[in-house]
Amino acid sequence: MGAPDVQAPPLKAYPVIPILQADAMAGSRPYVAAEKLNEAIGFPGKLVDGWQAKAVAKLGELRDRYRSLRVFLDACVHCGACTDKCHFFLGTGDPKNMPVARQELVRKVYRRYFTFAGKHFPKLVGAEDLTESVLEDWYRYFNQCSECRRCSVYCPYGIDTAEITMAAKEVMDSIGMGQKYTNEIIGKVHKIGNNLGLPGPALLDTLQTLEEEVKEETGQDVRFPLDEPGAEVLVVTPSADFFAEPHVFSLIGYAKVFHAAGIRWTLSSHASEAGNFGLFIGNYDQTRRIAMRVREAALELGVKRVVVGECGHAWRVAYSFWNTLIGPFDFLDARHPVPQHVCELTYDLIRRGAITLERERNDRRVVTFHDSCNVARASGMGGIPRGQFILPRAIVRAACTRFHDMAPETIHENTFCCGGGGGLLTDELVELRVKGALPRMEALKAVVDEHGVNFMATICAICKAQFAKVLPYYKFDMGMVGGVHQLVGDAIVLGRND
Ligand code: SF4
Ligand code: SF4
Repeated sequence: MGAPDVQAPPLKAYPVIPILQADAMAGSRPYVAAEKLNEAIGFPGKLVDGWQAKAVAKLGELRDRYRSLRVFLDACVHCGACTDKCHFFLGTGDPKNMPVARQELVRKVYRRYFTFAGKHFPKLVGAEDLTESVLEDWYRYFNQCSECRRCSVYCPYGIDTAEITMAAKEVMDSIGMGQKYTNEIIGKVHKIGNNLGLPGPALLDTLQTLEEEVKEETGQDVRFPLDEPGAEVLVVTPSADFFAEPHVFSLIGYAKVFHAAGIRWTLSSHASEAGNFGLFIGNYDQTRRIAMRVREAALELGVKRVVVGECGHAWRVAYSFWNTLIGPFDFLDARHPVPQHVCELTYDLIRRGAITLERERNDRRVVTFHDSCNVARASGMGGIPRGQFILPRAIVRAACTRFHDMAPETIHENTFCCGGGGGLLTDELVELRVKGALPRMEALKAVVDEHGVNFMATICAICKAQFAKVLPYYKFDMGMVGGVHQLVGDAIVLGRND
């Protein structure tokens, strides 16, 4: 199948605020989930009778449950600081993709039904009824937010548009207006155990094939164990790691690290997915049910440590929410009382000299690092301030001789989203995804031109899939993107036969 006919915007010197193009992305709309898909995960199959009153009641319920949502809806002073911070606005010029305008889609409804002024003088305060056309705008433009939280970094009040997006999605799911891609994936996790719908026997087969391939490459018996009771470590990783490229190279990297360090580990067929799309649709029950599989697998296998692979939003859920969602983790080893990121594990092994990396093995690569949004703005690592920026870069530098960061305003907490997060990684949104990647592509081009960068490492499965898709639109090689543990796997010294 050929690439969809989408014109990528020209790459410019960053930053350039686009000329406004009203409704430029009004046609961008993901498929609505079919009745069967919605019902399978407990949502109404299709738009319910009396949807307007039900949606308003749900919004009220969320406002009461989440104090943050109420503050975000009340606090905006329309200062405009966030307007040019969203990659989807920068890439499309559609004013409804300005974060404040996106928020206003919910805020005007909130004002109408929940504030005195909005109830009595709606026109004076910009309050509006939740009409069919407003609902349609919600569906289109909340599916043009990747929940990356970049805008919140620049807001003087810390207003988090992502939380407003999640609330809008939860309201829409509650009235039967769910999105196909996210809800289909959630259904697969419940039914089969992972986002890709890979059943246990196929997974076992894949892992055995990987063992054979790595044996051929290295001469070493590097294992990819599945459901092994008594292993010390349970690894929970995005299912794309099992076979998609470049993801699988990171799985090979994890396996080599465990082999070299002599640590017994296992994957689980019950929890064969780190991703948690419950977060993307803002639904607490789904997020908890999906996460619970990890606790169940850890207890069943009797592991002492839980390690999360290269998945941005999975690490956010693990780091920020697992303890309250599925904790306590008092059954783990007291030295590792909370789930760890695979970068924390590898960084510690490198620091202690427990594994050896030969950086020259990656000499063909000039590397940069893309901070994934959920890691950068919603998590930490290593128990040190800014560890989520320090640890992955330290590993990359230990595995490669040539490394160059992209411009400071595009990395760390200022990082630009890949354009595919938040449940948008679906083909019908490819135009949005290509345009939303523009700021990251501009920053990448600068280090390509200046330093000859030819590899962009990242620790997120969605970023990897999204970049592999959109890089060619900007005339870059799709093979430029890969994982941090791909670099580790290529540099690691495994033993005498290596
Ligand atoms: S959270 Fe990210 S995608 Fe959503 S409005 Fe803010 S900057 Fe844009
Ligand atoms: S930066 Fe914050 S206060 Fe200012 S317009 Fe944006 S959301 Fe409102």
